[in-house]
Parts: sequence; structure tokens; C-alpha cells
Amino acid sequence: MDSLKILKEVFGYDSFQGEQQKIIDSITSGNDTLVLMPTGGGKSLCYQIPCLMLDGVGIVVSPLIALMQDQVSTLKGLGVKAEYLNSSLDYNTRDMILSRVRNGDIDLLYMAPEGLLRPGFSQSFEGVKIALFAIDEAHCVSQWGHDFRPEYLRLAELMNQFPKAKTIALTATADQKTRVEMINKLQLESPNIFISSFDRPNIEYRVESKGKTNQQLYSFIKNEHKDDTGIVYCLSRKKVEKTAQFLKDKGFNAYAYHAGLPHQERNKNQKIFLSQDSIIMVATIAFGMGIDKPDVRFVAHLDLPSSLEAYYQETGRAGRDSLPSTAWMIYGIQDVVLRRRMIDGGEGASDYKKVSHQKLNDILAFCETTTCRRKIILKYFDEDRKENCNYCDTCLHPVEQIDGSLYAQKLLSCIYRTEQNFGSGHVIDVLLGKMSEKVMRFNHDRLSTYGIGDDLDEFAWKSIIRQLVVHGHLKIHNEFSSLIFTDSSKAILSGKLKFFVRKDIKETKKEKTKKTKKVNAVDMSKDLSFEQKGLFDTIKNWRTEKSKELGIPAYRVLSNKSLMSLVDLKPQTSEELYEVYGIGGAKVQEFGAEILGFFE
Ligand code: ADP
Ligand code: ZN
Repeated sequence: MDSLKILKEVFGYDSFQGEQQKIIDSITSGNDTLVLMPTGGGKSLCYQIPCLMLDGVGIVVSPLIALMQDQVSTLKGLGVKAEYLNSSLDYNTRDMILSRVRNGDIDLLYMAPEGLLRPGFSQSFEGVKIALFAIDEAHCVSQWGHDFRPEYLRLAELMNQFPKAKTIALTATADQKTRVEMINKLQLESPNIFISSFDRPNIEYRVESKGKTNQQLYSFIKNEHKDDTGIVYCLSRKKVEKTAQFLKDKGFNAYAYHAGLPHQERNKNQKIFLSQDSIIMVATIAFGMGIDKPDVRFVAHLDLPSSLEAYYQETGRAGRDSLPSTAWMIYGIQDVVLRRRMIDGGEGASDYKKVSHQKLNDILAFCETTTCRRKIILKYFDEDRKENCNYCDTCLHPVEQIDGSLYAQKLLSCIYRTEQNFGSGHVIDVLLGKMSEKVMRFNHDRLSTYGIGDDLDEFAWKSIIRQLVVHGHLKIHNEFSSLIFTDSSKAILSGKLKFFVRKDIKETKKEKTKKTKKVNAVDMSKDLSFEQKGLFDTIKNWRTEKSKELGIPAYRVLSNKSLMSLVDLKPQTSEELYEVYGIGGAKVQEFGAEILGFFE
């Protein structure tokens, strides 16, 4: 039977999609074939139809047992002679299937890779005619990839024992490097290579900066996908459970999925997800490979994935039915710190770690881009797209850039003054002139950079740090997460190199900043009025006494800037005291009454 007829009569479709026809022709005319097609592109038919056309049994290698059962039962429903062999079967069933294979009574046999490598596999197939080997999720062969399966490395050995059977390898995720690896490791012989466009035009890509994670997620779902099905990815099992509970409490139909759950519960949740509408699966990356649910309307990432491939594969689970869908992610500087730590603390050779850092840099560049996100993704998969997509956040709401050199200089000099020994949290505290415990411990309120950053708020500074890191003007120390200089930091400091930032940092300015600004806007060089001068000296004397009494340096009682701020604002109540520069809860409690005494 020819392929089109099978397509119509068995699968009930009218015509082939994309390059399906050519791919089928390639393998059925005896060529090794490599297929790169995005999720939902229709890979399965590319090997299923040839199995029905060619003599013998087609062996389909797939890494996921759940997926296998699903596909086989779908095929059986279409009247195809398909079975699977994996560890879930008992001995008798296995034996029965194998004897049917030997009798030529099966056209498609799905197998987990470990099963194929069992001793005795090739003997049990002696004399059996094998039509082809189909290696699904073939990127699992890549040691640098996120789905590496060691068993995949030995597939070539096995296929070599059946030299007549050709191999078709398929994947949805492949950069140039993985492509070469698949060909080499699977020993494909001058394969025909089919690369479909990786574009998923119906998915809108959006990245926002991380604030209050749960609230952000809640408003995203409530405002845009209230009754929709979606997947929420988190990095840790604990966060999966907490987030699922949060969504349940908010009245959503949410389930959790991660590798730490008992096998039965995991399977049950997956089944529920596949069969219900308006359902949200909160999961780690353990969930999703091969999930064929067409109407997933959104994929939300609460943590940064390890690479653009991982991100694209996970977001690719949205919108398989071609209807509008959203890929929504929030990320923050803490993600960068965590990911770097995971890479450095993980196992693996140093060149593996180097590749992992590079992959992380690529996805960070994607997050911080001011240009079309789709272009960046496609470029990553070696596809050059000229036009903007008009269906990603940066296209829909263009990000204006402004010269942020001055901000960068403030930040870098603050990092320099604190001797490149601190992480973003503390550096920002110093910039904002906060009186944190650490600031006091290290006397950082005495630095010339203390409080010079009060023209922006914390979120804006975080964003600037991220942008500097992404563009390589700052590094995060692997072990201590401290911010350190790179080769280009000094060029920015000295003004030789300009640094542009997303304009939205301005808009993130909060009310609070204005307040701080008012309080902070104490000009040390400003002449004090006679009355103020008197007050200043009185409080200063009190400060000296206090410092002797407590055995701590005077500035630890109150800094000069705080003194200036005090005589400027003349607080009357403890609430007003909080407005004073460098005075927080602890100081109000310790000295509040005494200080207020000066203003009665
Ligand atoms: P992939 O494995 O590439 O992610 P699938 O093989 O699961 O994608 O196919 C995705 C969806 O597209 C499935 O629902 C499939 O039935 C459908 N499909 C594939 N080829 C065709 C076709 N030629 N015509 C119509 N629908 C198709
Ligand atoms: Zn775009």
C-alpha cells in the first residue's frame, strides 16, 4: 500500500503535513534518516507509516513507558498490529509477544532502550525480519543534553547486528552540536536530514522579572487563562507541592507531579491531567516528555530552565492544536545564582560544566533581550528569521533602551568599594543606603557609595545587575555568589564603554523610592540653619556619650547622614522616625524615645 493511502485509510487524515511524505520516502527507499521537527509537528507518522509499508517488524525505541502504552493503544484502536515490550510486562506476556513477532504478526514493536540492550535480545530476534529502527527522542544520545540516557549510546551496537534495517532518528530538540552527536553516536550512514522550521507561531513568549512568585502566577492565570489547561514548571519538588497547594487554595483544579511522588500517585495524576479539561499540572521537568495533550493553553515557568532547548521543549507542550497559547516565565537574579551553583556543584567533567555554563548564558541572553524573542530561539536552532514575530512580549511591547552607563558605574563602584566580596542583596542595600545588620557589621555606611543609588529601587537595581551579568560586564562568583568584575567592568567604570539598559527599569520605581529619596536627599554640604546646627551638635554629643556607654563606634549609633536627616525632618512620632535616613525598627526601639526627646 502506498503511504498516502495508509494515511487516509488507517489514520484518517487527508494529506501529509510539512515534510512527512519526503521523510517516509527516504526511509522506505532504504536510507538512514534524521528528522528534526518541533513538538507537535507530526513525527510519529514518519515512522509509523513506513512500519506498515515495509516487510517485517519496525522497532520503535522510546524512553518513556507511559508514552509507549499510550501510543500503542491508540494504534491498536486504529487496527494496527502494535505492541510494546518493557519492564512492566510479566514473563508470559513478553513471551507471547515475542512469538508473535517471530511469526511476523506484529508491525510495530515499541521498546524501552534498556530492554533492547538486555543480553539475549538479538538471539530472541534471530531470523526475524526487522523493517526499521525508529529512535524517538534521539537527542537522549547526547551527553551534553538535558535528557541524556546512557543506554542510548549502545543502540548503534545493536543496530549493527541487523545491517539491513535502516534507522530513522527523530527529535524535537537539537542544536548543531547535538545534531552531529546523533549522527555519530547512532552511526547513521550518510543520512538524509530533514529539518522542519522550529517555529511555533501560535505560542506567545513572555518573560517577566520575578517578584512575588505566587501572586504573579495567580494573576497571570486568573487574568488570562482562568478556565484553561496548563502546566506550571518549578525547579524543586517542594516548590511543586507548595505551588500546587496554593493554586488549589485559590480554587483551581491543580495537581502535582515530581519524581519524589510514589509511582502510583504520579501515574494517577498524569492520567487525570490527560483526561480532564481545565486542569493545571504543577511539575518538575520529570513531567511532560511525550505528553500529547493538544489543548494545553499555557506553560508557566516559575524557575529558569537549564537551557534554551529545555525551555523550548517544555513550552512546546503548549498549543499542539495550533490555537493561541502562552509561554510565560518569571525569572530573577536568584535563578542565575542557583543555576550556576547547580552546575558547579554537580557531577561531570570540567568541559561538561563549561558547556552547561554556556547554555545558561544563552538562555539568560534570551531572558534579557530587547529584540524579538522568537528570533533568538530560532537562531539558537540555526534558523535565521528576518522579520519580527509580533507575537512575543518584546515585539508587542517594545522595550526602549536608555543609556544606563551612570547606573552601571554607581553599581560597579559600589561593588569595587565592597571589594567584590558580596552578593547582589548586600550591594543593593549599600546602594540604597539601608541600615542592614551586614551594612553595620562591615561599616559599609561609611563608604562613599553608600546611598548613592536611591534614584532607583531594588527591583531596578536587580534588573541592572542581571543585564550586566548577561552582557558579561559582571560575573557571579561560583562559590560565594559574590559579584565580581570581568575584563569589561573597568571600561564601563571609566566611561570608555557605554552600557544600555531596558528602559523599563525606570518604570519599576516604586512609591517607596520617592519617599526614601526625599529622606535621602540630604545634602551633606548644605549649610545648616543656626537652629539646625544647634540641634545637630546636641544630638552629636549625645551620640558620643551613647557610643562610649555601649562601647561601639559612634557611626553605629547614628551615622552623620542620619544626623543630617534628623535635623532636616524633625520627627515628632515614632512613625516619622522611620522616615529618617538609616533609622529602622531596631534603632527606633533602642534610641527612639531619647531621640524624639530632642524635638519636643
Ligand atoms: P510529535 O511527535 O512530532 O510531537 P505527533 O506525531 O504526536 O507529533 O503529532 C502531533 C499531532 O498532529 C497528533 O495529534 C497527530 O495525530 C497530528 N498529525 C500528524 N500528522 C498529521 C497529518 N498529516 N494530518 C493531520 N494531523 C496530523
Ligand atoms: Zn517577537
